[in-house]
Amino acid sequence: METCLFCQIAKRERPGKIVYEDEQSVAFEDIHPKAPVHILIVPRQHIATLVDANEADDRLLGHLLLVANRIARQVGIADRGFRVVINCNSEGGQAVYHLHLHLLGGRPLTWHPA
Ligand code: 5GP
Ligand code: ZN
Repeated sequence: METCLFCQIAKRERPGKIVYEDEQSVAFEDIHPKAPVHILIVPRQHIATLVDANEADDRLLGHLLLVANRIARQVGIADRGFRVVINCNSEGGQAVYHLHLHLLGGRPLTWHPA
């Protein structure tokens, strides 16, 4: 997807503070962080939303969670605690239509997602 923001960041065609990457995924700092740690984890493959993923993507989806695990340990929030969020479609608050996990932490997080 040539015009997709997160495809462009993953391909380094657009600036992004990349903190981790591997063959299947890229993770970078959110441009408007909602917590001291706010990292977005995206597949290199363009999948617009969670509901566009299918059985063929099951390993990839699992991999993205393990990347969250890895980065949480890397930045020192694994034991303190953190949150992983996927917003899906408009009522889910999705603004960028390239599947991404938000990794949030670094302070006590409240729970008022609505
Ligand atoms: P969503 O609402 O789609 O789940 O989250 C999109 C996230 O992408 C938001 O937290 C927003 O701050 C972040 N974002 C939007 N544009 C950019 C950008 O150009 N670069 C980075 N690093 N993050 C972005
Ligand atoms: Zn994309």
